[in-house]
Amino acid sequence: MNREVEGIRILVVDDERDIRDASERILSRVGFQLYTAKRGEEALQVFKEAHPAIVLLDLKMPGMDGMEVLKRLREWDPSILVIVITGYATVETAIEAMKQGAYDFISKPFEPDQLRIVVNRAAEKIRLTREAKNLEQEKARTLSDLDTEKSRMRTIIESLPDGVMVTNISGQVVLINLSCKHMLKLPPDTTPGRPIQDYVSDEALCNLGLDISRGKYVDYGDIPEHEFTLSDGTYLRAIAQPVLGERKECLGAILNLIDITSMKALDRLKSEFVAKVSHELRSPLSTIHEQIAVVVGDLVSSQPQQHQHLLARAKEKTQGLISLIGDLLDLSRIEEGITGREPKPVRLEELLKGIVDFLSTRASTKNQTLSLDILLENLPEINADPLALESIFGNLITNAITYTQEGGRIRVELDKAGINIRVKVVDNGFGIDEKYIDKIFDRFYRVKDERTRYITGTGLGLPIVKGLVDSLGGIIEVTSSLGEGSTFTVLLPVQQG
Ligand code: ADP
Repeated sequence: MNREVEGIRILVVDDERDIRDASERILSRVGFQLYTAKRGEEALQVFKEAHPAIVLLDLKMPGMDGMEVLKRLREWDPSILVIVITGYATVETAIEAMKQGAYDFISKPFEPDQLRIVVNRAAEKIRLTREAKNLEQEKARTLSDLDTEKSRMRTIIESLPDGVMVTNISGQVVLINLSCKHMLKLPPDTTPGRPIQDYVSDEALCNLGLDISRGKYVDYGDIPEHEFTLSDGTYLRAIAQPVLGERKECLGAILNLIDITSMKALDRLKSEFVAKVSHELRSPLSTIHEQIAVVVGDLVSSQPQQHQHLLARAKEKTQGLISLIGDLLDLSRIEEGITGREPKPVRLEELLKGIVDFLSTRASTKNQTLSLDILLENLPEINADPLALESIFGNLITNAITYTQEGGRIRVELDKAGINIRVKVVDNGFGIDEKYIDKIFDRFYRVKDERTRYITGTGLGLPIVKGLVDSLGGIIEVTSSLGEGSTFTVLLPVQQG
């Protein structure tokens, strides 16, 4: 049995039974699937049900003649292969049938081999047509796969968070994704196609892109990473590589851009922090060192009065260092969101009284008056960590004392404003120039003018205060006038229920 013809359906239409039987026998043996019909009408019926690929059609039949059947069959299925069976007398008709679209013809009577040859030829045509169709489909599928693959890659590159730009060997941009346009401040509808200089303002990066595109770099390890800034302060890092073809030839360059603005800011803050801390630690440490050296060196010559003085200064300096470290730790805790212990109900009158009492000694050394005015009695308690509250008001009152001249006045007022408890720390001291007001809550920021120059501090007090007030859901405000004094107002929400 021939595998290639297996399953191909053939309909034999002939009114002569011998022809039908002989054809059925000869062709079934080689693997075709046979159907027969003795008249035209029947042929059309069988055709509809079985959909044969080949029809052996006798042109001369009683009833509907072969030509009519041929016409109808071709109308239904133009790909049908009709082999006309005809006698000598009707060769003309056979030619006519060929014109009507019949595929081949065989004259009666025929030898089995003749039939096999004609039918096999038709089967071969069917096989070739099917093969061609399969190839066509496969090609279409591959093309559509390629197309999908291409558009998938395009979508992926478009949605990458990093900037991607590709240039060809003449330095023309052939691809630029959305992030890249965004980073380079180009409009989103910017299209590729122009020289790299039209897209990148940084000259060094353009040159690097051009050098790589032209194949200057043999060893990719030599390609430097390039960092540059844009006019709005954005920091970008570019990592560039050549694009290589199949034979490792350079086809252009690919630039990968990363926004490193926040990394840079963090870096700067770290350096500032290290510089500040080193600076703040160095001078008291060297003072302590010198003073201890003097005390140790002079231990033999007993001058207890002088030693006492030196040791007192050393103690003062170590205290300064301890409070600096305390401030730093407080600040980092606040920034990590660790704002203290469990909150509990606190009566602010009592807490403020305690702080004012404690700091009165310090105020009196500068002949200042420090008073607490409770403007509204029986204020509700607030739910907070008492240590956080002590830190807030301790810092504000200490600042008022520090930044107020000898004999000045500091007043702490307590009352309510709407649903909030309001505490004001008012001084008639140096005041703060309006241009610095926004900055005093920044870490390490200290106003340096004639009057504050010689006052030591860390610039960490107010950031800590602000961090703690925020964590309690409160607000801190400041009003100040240079030479007249400052007022720091803290509003704290009262715990409902
Ligand atoms: P420090 O007191 O350690 O310098 P702070 O963060 O507490 O740090 O204060 C930052 C700056 O704000 C101070 O250096 C000072 O110039 C200014 N400042 C704070 N409180 C007052 C005040 N009550 N009057 C005038 N200036 C003040």
